[in-house]
Amino acid sequence: MSLHIDVLTLFPRMLEGFLAESILGKAIETKKLGVAVHDLRAWCTDKHRTADDRPFGGGAGMVMKPEPVVAAIEQLQTPGCRRIYLTPDGTPLTEKIARELSTQQHIIFLSGHYEGIDQRIRDLVIDQEISIGDYVLTNGTLPAAVTIDALARFIPGVLGDEKSLTHESFTGRFLDFPQYTRPAEFRGQSVPKVLLSGNHTEIEKWRHEERVKKTRLVRPDLLEKPYTS
Ligand code: SAM
Repeated sequence: MSLHIDVLTLFPRMLEGFLAESILGKAIETKKLGVAVHDLRAWCTDKHRTADDRPFGGGAGMVMKPEPVVAAIEQLQTPGCRRIYLTPDGTPLTEKIARELSTQQHIIFLSGHYEGIDQRIRDLVIDQEISIGDYVLTNGTLPAAVTIDALARFIPGVLGDEKSLTHESFTGRFLDFPQYTRPAEFRGQSVPKVLLSGNHTEIEKWRHEERVKKTRLVRPDLLEKPYTS
C-alpha cells in the first residue's frame, strides 16, 4: 500500500500549486503517494470558526486552541499512523528522517500558526516534532510541503532516475559537485576540460575533489561528524 498523507492547515490553498506540479504532481497522479489537505476551520465549531485564543499568563500573539486540532487528528488518524507537528523547536529535518518517513503507511502533518499551538495538543496527539531549519516562518504549511517533498523522493518510482538518491548532497558525507551542461563555452567561461575528456576515472576523481573542496568551504561541520554510510 502506498503512503497516504493528511495535512491539517489553516491555509489549504497554499498547497494547491505545490501538489499539482512537477515530480510531486506526477507521483500523486500515478498514485505512488496520496495527499489530502484539510482546512482546520472545518473542525472549529463556534459561529466565527475561531482557531486561536489569547495565551494564559499573557504575552504577545495568539495560540491555536486544542479542541479543533485534537478533534481533527482524532477523526483522521488510523492505527499506527505518525502524527507530526511542524515547529521551529522540533528535531531538524534530515535526509535520514525523510527516508524513514517515506516507509510509513499514513502520516498526519499539523501546521501551526500564530505563536504556535496549545501544549496539550503536543502532549495528547503528536508523535514527532520536525523543524525545517533555524528560522521562524509565519505558519507550518510550507514546512509540511518541504517535508513531503523531501520524503517523496525516497518513494520507489517517484524519481525518474533513482541514481539521484545516491549521488546527491547529504547522501554521503560530502555536498554535491559542480554540474555543467551545453554549451561547452558560455560568456567566456569554459566547462572544465576533464568533463569533456571521456575518461571516467579522471572525471570521478575530479568530482570527488570538488565535493571535498565545497564541503570544506561551506559545511566543515559535516566533515567533523563520525560518518556512517
Ligand atoms: N512561537 C513559536 C516558536 O518560537 O517556536 C513560533 C511559532 S511560528 C510564528 C508559527 C508556526 O509556524 C509554528 O506553529 C509552526 O507550525 C510553523 N513554523 C515556523 N517556523 C518553522 C520551522 N522552522 N520549522 C517548522 N515549522 C515552523
